[in-house]
Amino acid sequence: MRFVDEAVIEVAGGDGGNGCMSFLRLRFVPKGGPDGGDGGRGGNVILRADTSIATLADHSYLRHFRAGRGAHGQGSDKDGRAGEDKTLRVPVGTMVRDVDTGELIADLTEEGQEVVVAAGGDGGLGNRHFATATNRAPRRSTPGWPGEKRTIKLELKLLAQVGLIGLPNAGKSSLIRAMSRARPKVADYPFTTLTPNLGVVQLKDRRPFTVADIPGLVAGAHSGAGLGLRFLKHVERTRIFIYVIDLHEGDPLDHLNTVRDELLAYDRAMGQRASLVAANKLDLDDAREIYPIFKEEVESLGLDIYPISAQTGQGVKKLIQAIYEAMAELDEGKEQHDQPA
Ligand code: GDP
Ligand code: MG
Repeated sequence: MRFVDEAVIEVAGGDGGNGCMSFLRLRFVPKGGPDGGDGGRGGNVILRADTSIATLADHSYLRHFRAGRGAHGQGSDKDGRAGEDKTLRVPVGTMVRDVDTGELIADLTEEGQEVVVAAGGDGGLGNRHFATATNRAPRRSTPGWPGEKRTIKLELKLLAQVGLIGLPNAGKSSLIRAMSRARPKVADYPFTTLTPNLGVVQLKDRRPFTVADIPGLVAGAHSGAGLGLRFLKHVERTRIFIYVIDLHEGDPLDHLNTVRDELLAYDRAMGQRASLVAANKLDLDDAREIYPIFKEEVESLGLDIYPISAQTGQGVKKLIQAIYEAMAELDEGKEQHDQPA
């Protein structure tokens, strides 16, 4: 499932420091040679692709980024220090455009790839540069150049690795909130499209992954009922399905079969996709009562089941761990597959 994640930011390179006008002072020489140093170069604003960053969420809040300015030159031929670069880490896969010209500045596709999006200004020249045969005491130095300023648009095509599948009211949206609660900054992440919902999940020290719900999946969705069809075509690239099943309302096995049948009717290959079942609303007594029966039924289908309450958060961490394990297994399988026989 793909989403476009965007952020528009203003970037400014640091201004260059001014060149200095200064003369060597010696006690018995009224005006020694010119010794004004050059201004330092302003810092650059740099974007660096980093696999540990999952979305552009951070950049949609902080909208202005400026690198450090260069220090002014000083007497005694001292050049000013260069301004500090400002490096912003962005997800791998970020495309960078100049908003005013539409020009594609960069497509950051590899870990560690960098691009300067706003160059710092050059430092000005100190007066020692202007000494000539006829003017050995130049009273001229130049100011630093301003840093480059531009407005850029960052664009990321996100692929949700995990898709939540379930009937309306099963608790998909609640589960996304519960799963991404560990990182509150993504919990209220402002997506331009409200549906489907996307959350970024991350356990400490592990790579973040994105989870999306597929809203409006009802019986008959594959033939156009409800909103499901529009979203079904997006789940094709989702690596793992989580069937979110409400144990409080109706017959859970019936619900599971309904949503699985919809996926299969849409595309038989989806039956092969790695899947887990999240039995939801286990904070409720009646749900807990029928859980053992449902668990047996699910396991006899060859699926792993995890009891959760999206509302209280109980069991959610275990589910996240199971998702990490399933993804690791898929990665391993892929590596083996990639090896020449
Ligand atoms: P969705 O349609 O699948 O996105 O379902 P929602 O997340 O919107 O939840 C539907 C309803 O079920 C809401 O009223 C939720 O408050 C409620 N709900 C979701 N998860 C739980 C849960 O674990 N326990 C209880 N008691 N209610 C839940
Ligand atoms: Mg919902």
